[in-house]
Amino acid sequence: MVLTEETRRAVRLRAALDALPAYKAGRPPAPVEGLTPYKISSNENPYPPLPSVLDAIADAAGAVNRYPDMANAELVAAIAEHVGVPADRIACGTGSVGVLGQLVQATCDAGDEVVFAWRSFEAYPIVTTIAGAVPVTVPLTSDARHDLPAMADAITERARLVLVCTPNNPTGPAVTAAELEAFLARVPDDVLVVIDEAYLEFGTDPQAPDALAVHDAHENVAVLRTFSKAYGLAGLRVGYAIAHPPVAEALRKTAVPFGVSSLAQRAAVASLAARDELDERVASIVEERDRVRTALLEQGWDIPDTQANFVWFPFGEGSSAFAAACAAQALAVRQYGDDGVRVTIGEREANDRLLQIAAAHRPRS
Ligand SMILES: *Cc1c(COP(=O)(O)O)cnc(C)c1O
Repeated sequence: MVLTEETRRAVRLRAALDALPAYKAGRPPAPVEGLTPYKISSNENPYPPLPSVLDAIADAAGAVNRYPDMANAELVAAIAEHVGVPADRIACGTGSVGVLGQLVQATCDAGDEVVFAWRSFEAYPIVTTIAGAVPVTVPLTSDARHDLPAMADAITERARLVLVCTPNNPTGPAVTAAELEAFLARVPDDVLVVIDEAYLEFGTDPQAPDALAVHDAHENVAVLRTFSKAYGLAGLRVGYAIAHPPVAEALRKTAVPFGVSSLAQRAAVASLAARDELDERVASIVEERDRVRTALLEQGWDIPDTQANFVWFPFGEGSSAFAAACAAQALAVRQYGDDGVRVTIGEREANDRLLQIAAAHRPRS
């Protein structure tokens, strides 16, 4: 490149950043007179924190002049007990997005490949590209599911990491246990497969895999989980991986030191202790999800199966119009270009309003 006066003066930034899509956070709803606004664009939990969790946060707040426990010892022990694996298989991070970044850093040198389905979680191409690795995307099937045979075909010599998002954000379906086993049989042992189970707790599909058992049976399989969705701690940023000890240790090496705050650690421990109460909330979100999807199918919409706390409208070019109709009714939803619109299951009133808007857009039969 010729150094002009201008380039000489500009700070030299990595070219990889030019290729980087910006993370688009779900927007808050714009106010509409006479309507309660609802943010159903980020798959958040509509319930506020439990009193016991708030107490833990308040208690931890009194000591924020101190650094948090860098080893997350209490939290790691609580998670290990919760999932039933030894503590040396647990690695925590600043949300599972933080752990995803650590996973790419732990596995990929510049130019190595990360294979994942598309459309899927929008953080995948970002964490991949930031690390200097190369995203290899494999289109979903026509029914919005992972095409695991095609993903196996896409694994080259350069592949180091495969991300399997199940259930898939933003479309909803989970992979089946049989599909996953057939896939793993084709993945080389030196490629790490990460099963991203951000929405695990909302799943009711009996064919879905038991990811912990799969992890147990395969040295190259790790599981990613979060406190952000079912457990309602999105604002505190804490997630974790369950990985075999060499991988878990690599994740500790690539973690931001003191990344998980003391508030997050204490709140997560309190949430695991309050599991029964939180699971009741999850059960009512699942009930609402099934009610909404059933109603949409009755309206004539072709909505893919969903095992998460959201529904996917594969509207193609009609996506903008539908997102605008929702916005006009004070519902902030998440539009993905001309692919579709993802709507989080929220408060009952938000769900009812969504159904009314969808009915007004009803496809002609
Ligand atoms: C929301 C989400 C995450 C987790 O986000 P964190 O808040 O960073 O834990 C991870 N994976 C998928 C697929 C998600 O949708």
